[in-house]
Amino acid sequence: MFKERIYNFSAGPSMLPVSVLERAAGEILNYNGSGMSVMEMSHRSKVYDEIFQSVKEKLRKVMNIPSNYHVLFMQGGATGVFASLAMNLMGENGKADYAVTGNFSKNAASEAKKYGTVNIAYDTADKNHTYIPVQSDLKLTSGASYFHYCANNTIFGTAWKYVPTANGAPVVSDMSSCILSEPVDVSKFGMIYAGAQKNMAPAGFAVIIIRDDIAIKPLPFTPKVLDYNMMIKEDSMPNTPPTYNIYILGLVLDWIQELGGLNEMGKINSAKAKILYDFLDSNNFYVAPAQKEARSMMNITFKTASEELDAKFAKESAAAGFANLKGHRLVGGMRASVYNAMPAEGVKKLVEFMDKFEKENK
Ligand code: PMP
Repeated sequence: MFKERIYNFSAGPSMLPVSVLERAAGEILNYNGSGMSVMEMSHRSKVYDEIFQSVKEKLRKVMNIPSNYHVLFMQGGATGVFASLAMNLMGENGKADYAVTGNFSKNAASEAKKYGTVNIAYDTADKNHTYIPVQSDLKLTSGASYFHYCANNTIFGTAWKYVPTANGAPVVSDMSSCILSEPVDVSKFGMIYAGAQKNMAPAGFAVIIIRDDIAIKPLPFTPKVLDYNMMIKEDSMPNTPPTYNIYILGLVLDWIQELGGLNEMGKINSAKAKILYDFLDSNNFYVAPAQKEARSMMNITFKTASEELDAKFAKESAAAGFANLKGHRLVGGMRASVYNAMPAEGVKKLVEFMDKFEKENK
């Protein structure tokens, strides 16, 4: 039992900024004099439409999204997008290139295989996804409809430090675990997408940012709610969207803007990750498996010398108020997910705990 809020290092759903939760709490019974909660509003009402349009505008502003991109809110999470992007973008060519640098990019490729031919342009499984390929290592196919990669590998703790190119084919990026963490040049992408539950909002939707000249040719059986042309036409509302969660995204975007936007967010995140990486580099009790050049700023993976000690660490850290540090079952060890809402204080305290644990267990 904890009387206070604890530091939650969950990979997602994860921490939301306290001021966002407080604002949501303050508005929960009566939103802006409407006499009702945002949860209770018709998605077609004027008051909700204002919220919805302003969330899209705020996202455009914060991410500096050029006007030739559409912003869509999709249900089915990022996994839903694994399927829908293939259904919509494979087109007549029926083939696409995928870089596999972790579990989610592998899942994205497997899902796409149901709808066309998938060429694996690179697979980092040979070194248990501890690194990221360089551009010249990507084996791209001529005539592919798009190239897909996952910018930040949530489970393995690696991230692409450059935006790959694909001989002119649109680049599609899964940014589920790094969106809004630092500035991104949206114009380099054909499509960006992300599940909401890490840096954006409560779980329940995914954001798609798609350039308006991308050839969208939905396969004939594509369900209406997964058809990007239909979603563009219906402004993401062919049916009831997750209204409350989208409203929370608006509050999160206000919070980012108040902090100084993505430039500032990026600096804060990089300083935060450095605290933990510097500590990991300065001792030999903990090992950080991800190659230095490929280290993620959002998901920091580390291990001790044995599985028993890892299990002890997970148990004792949880009891001390550092939740969800147990690594994903595919890799074991530990993982600290330090998304936007994790305060630097949380990382500093974690490092103190790690230091203490090391002294007690060496
Ligand atoms: N891609 C990445 C990079 C992820 O981290 C996750 C979820 N952890 C997913 C995709 C799947 O997201 P969802 O649960 O929204 O389908």
